[in-house]
Amino acid sequence: MNCDDFLTASETGSFFDRRRARRHAANCPRCAALLATFAAVKQEMASPPPLSARERHLWKHAMEGAEPRTSLLPRWLGIVGGLATLACVVLLVAKMTIVKPRDIGSPNPPIAIVPPAPAPPILSTPTVTEIDPAKELAQLSQATDRLDADLKKLRQDALRRDARRQVAMTFEHFDKW
Ligand SMILES: [Zn+2]
Repeated sequence: MNCDDFLTASETGSFFDRRRARRHAANCPRCAALLATFAAVKQEMASPPPLSARERHLWKHAMEGAEPRTSLLPRWLGIVGGLATLACVVLLVAKMTIVKPRDIGSPNPPIAIVPPAPAPPILSTPTVTEIDPAKELAQLSQATDRLDADLKKLRQDALRRDARRQVAMTFEHFDKW
């Protein structure tokens, strides 16, 4: 058993292969660390974190084949938004109705402070977001393709760099002769 065979033997080997792998790991700190990392990754993949409310909602609708009908934004967010808009409008109206004097030197400067008129009530309109699962899937698929292409390019780049480094090392080696 050597370090190269270790992971294959310990994960997919026969009973004896796995026993030999365990014995190897007992004496090889590198493979013991690899085994520990691999076990941690397996554990992590076996117990995924619980879905958020939004993810659960999307999953449920995707499984049922229906589109989510209402916005996932909480209702109070629309109300708060409406109130904020109302406050802004009131402030703007108040600022516009206070007429400032233009020439202070005149005996009777026209100062007129008009109380702000009550602003009309603004009804908040909740936004409804329609999500098309097929479209989302197509977009995800495209993104995956792009990532795949990027990965391929990166791998080629890495290989090229590696080759260049090997050539440089070989030249360095021959220079020493
Ligand atoms: Zn080893």
